[in-house]
Amino acid sequence: MKHNGIEFDTYFKNYPDKNGFFGKYGGCYIPEELKRAMEEIAEAYRTIAKSGKFIAELRRIRKEFQGRPTPVSYLERLSAKVGGAQIYVKREDLNHTGAHKLNHCMGEALLAKYMGKKKVIGETGAGQHGVALATASAYFGLECDIYMGAVDIQKQAPNVARMKILGANVIEVTEGLQTLKEAADAAFAAYAKEYKDAIYCIGSVIGPHPFPMMVRDFQSIVGMEAREQFVEMTGELPDAVVACVGGGSNAMGMFSGFLNYPVDIYGIEPLGRGTKLGDHAASLQYGSEGIMHGFNSIMLKDENGDPAPVYSVASGLDYPSSGPEHAFLRDLGRVKYDVIDDEETLEAFYALARLEGIIPAIESSHAVAYAMKLAKEMKTGSILVNLSGRGDKDMDFIIEKYGIR
Ligand SMILES: *Cc1c(COP(=O)(O)O)cnc(C)c1O
Repeated sequence: MKHNGIEFDTYFKNYPDKNGFFGKYGGCYIPEELKRAMEEIAEAYRTIAKSGKFIAELRRIRKEFQGRPTPVSYLERLSAKVGGAQIYVKREDLNHTGAHKLNHCMGEALLAKYMGKKKVIGETGAGQHGVALATASAYFGLECDIYMGAVDIQKQAPNVARMKILGANVIEVTEGLQTLKEAADAAFAAYAKEYKDAIYCIGSVIGPHPFPMMVRDFQSIVGMEAREQFVEMTGELPDAVVACVGGGSNAMGMFSGFLNYPVDIYGIEPLGRGTKLGDHAASLQYGSEGIMHGFNSIMLKDENGDPAPVYSVASGLDYPSSGPEHAFLRDLGRVKYDVIDDEETLEAFYALARLEGIIPAIESSHAVAYAMKLAKEMKTGSILVNLSGRGDKDMDFIIEKYGIR
């Protein structure tokens, strides 16, 4: 299938190019001493991760440890209530640990094992990536250092406890604002010293090449399963596919299964409290081109051109940029990006809980909210939503901030 001059039959062979570019986005903008480490990972990925042995082991792990394939569920009562297109969800909330993040963490940690590394290093903000990486490390018997800002450690006590129970070292970062950015800087600095024995594991389709490609490929199982399951259930493709976009990994996983099919694709960013800079994290909607965290993409900037402070009710979505492939697909017009605010998110959260018996992650509720709007507009047809995670992690926050509605 061709779109805007791009042949999607061969898309995954051509994008990213060998330097990690999706058009002008992506690349590898990091200090010279780390470039060798990235090249080593890229080379290992090209060879080891494409070997029959690696692929067979990852498939076995997905089935026997993660509980894949996760199902697709038809939301009969929600669809009836909304009135319009029929809504379905891909249940990544039922993946082990309750979200999609484990898909790429298991892939990255398995690669670490094959490369003979003893340790994985990562940073975490809300703690979701840290917990997924700690889980993968425990499974493979790897050491795990998670860098986390002191402020985030205070706020995310349950996830800190989870990581420690899983045997990870949680390393407190006390520089600057003591949140995700400083944690990422500290993790990268540690990696520069330890790269012979360690591998850095990123939490989304972001960072320097080869991470946006690797994480996409490890997540693409979501879209592949979902397409086959949907066709088996209904005999046809969905008319539309929807996923929320923070860094963009669950979305890229889902979209990978549909880019080459005649399906409308929607990526949903958090509008938070409104359109003012600082009140949202909708980078693809309101941002401009720039380089941060080792890659070129669309980002929200402050007056100095640095990454701007962002906000969303969903801590997994409050990132001032998005993966380079999303910027590319946006410019091509193959994926449409739109926004959902906090209030719409909360309504969708309750609707899914009350009408379907599924408590979704607040991140995923953005995608559900958009599907509800879109279903009304479409009137007929079908929408498949990636339900990236379950909402258990959000209970305390929802009760404290909004009370029970
Ligand atoms: C982390 C997270 C996200 C956002 O990350 P992406 O890389 O954009 O997918 C979305 N949903 C859940 C449940 C998460 O934990």
